[in-house]
Amino acid sequence: MCRTCHWLTSGAVRRFLEGEQCAKMELTGWVKNYGWGRKGISSAVAQLAMANDPDFRLNEEETYAEMWMGTHVCGVSVVKETGETLDRVLKKDLSYLFKVLSINKALSIQVHPNKCEAERLHKERPDIYKDPNHKPELAIALTPFLALVGFMSAEDIRDYIDEFQPLSKLIGKEAVDQLHDSTDAESVKWCYEKLMKTEESVIAKCISEIAKDYQKELKSNDLLEVFTKVNKDFPGDVGVLSLFFLNLIRLQPGQAIYLGANEIHAYLDGDCVECMACSDNVIRAGLTPKYKDVDQLLESVIFESSYKDRKEFIPYRIDGQVQVYIPPVTDFAVINVNIEHSLESYKLEIQAFGSIMIVLKGSRILKLKTQQGDKEILVTRGSIVYIPVEAAPEIEFAKSDDCDEDFSGYIATSNYFRVP
Ligand SMILES: [Zn+2]
Repeated sequence: MCRTCHWLTSGAVRRFLEGEQCAKMELTGWVKNYGWGRKGISSAVAQLAMANDPDFRLNEEETYAEMWMGTHVCGVSVVKETGETLDRVLKKDLSYLFKVLSINKALSIQVHPNKCEAERLHKERPDIYKDPNHKPELAIALTPFLALVGFMSAEDIRDYIDEFQPLSKLIGKEAVDQLHDSTDAESVKWCYEKLMKTEESVIAKCISEIAKDYQKELKSNDLLEVFTKVNKDFPGDVGVLSLFFLNLIRLQPGQAIYLGANEIHAYLDGDCVECMACSDNVIRAGLTPKYKDVDQLLESVIFESSYKDRKEFIPYRIDGQVQVYIPPVTDFAVINVNIEHSLESYKLEIQAFGSIMIVLKGSRILKLKTQQGDKEILVTRGSIVYIPVEAAPEIEFAKSDDCDEDFSGYIATSNYFRVP
């Protein structure tokens, strides 16, 4: 019997499996140690990697930022049994890329190009834009999660600029007057462009004046904590002043945000599950030591305001156990499965697309059809399983004897929930 797979050890199943290869379904994710990740065991990524792989060696001084699950060339998953990469086994790429993120330090202010722009950018600058695909993305909070998403209304931005005079001075009378005359996307664009194109030393001076003289105003707008955090993460960076332009979103576990092409955003703090089209194209303009492409960001970004209460992305509830996050693109959807420990069995209908599941909590016996016949796998926290096309039309989560914890997992799949 395969050493690394968590197969059942009951007599009947053991006899069934003896001498037979394990199905190539259990995966190891690809861990990324970016500097913004949480350190050591405090990182959800490190915790899941340890639970997934007995050979994973934790370094308490190391940051663990992302775990990638899928076939993207920059971090392809590995089949546990054989050590082969998933793309080689499948002989194709999946349409989505699935991740867990654990954020300590703010991520860059960014947008993702649409398909057409991605093709052009990849052709012109393949060293920066690594693939020709768009990258709509969905983030589902696992812990309280903080992010900047989309521009505030022009009125709110105008009020902030008026209240924080060093910012008003930096942007300049002409652009600020224009914003007062007409509170529209064009005026916001002018002000934001002025900000993004200001010399670094002037930006840093403006931030330090606000930090010194505007504590009361930051506090009354509920911005003090986040202003201090972002300024600590990237001292004097232009991204700190983006707090006066972008919606500050606070998500509770299970709440989600969806970012379409060219919607500006920056994740600031917390853990999440993230799913996106299979791409790594990012246009960055602040809060990053990486290459900033300010001109491209200003050309691509949507300046129209998106109101806070519209930004939470609501999943569609199928029943008491399952809800589905269905974005407006065909590349991906995310199924969230929560099963009470007392429930003997739950059958989930799925369609014939290869899916990837990560287990966050509890334990179940996953029963599914594969090319090698019916299989049963004990899945526990940290398990990552590729659910093959042959598993359709349903997989079963049966009760595992030794577990009295509720089960929770996320499944990334192609978006067959939407009629194109
Ligand atoms: Zn993004």
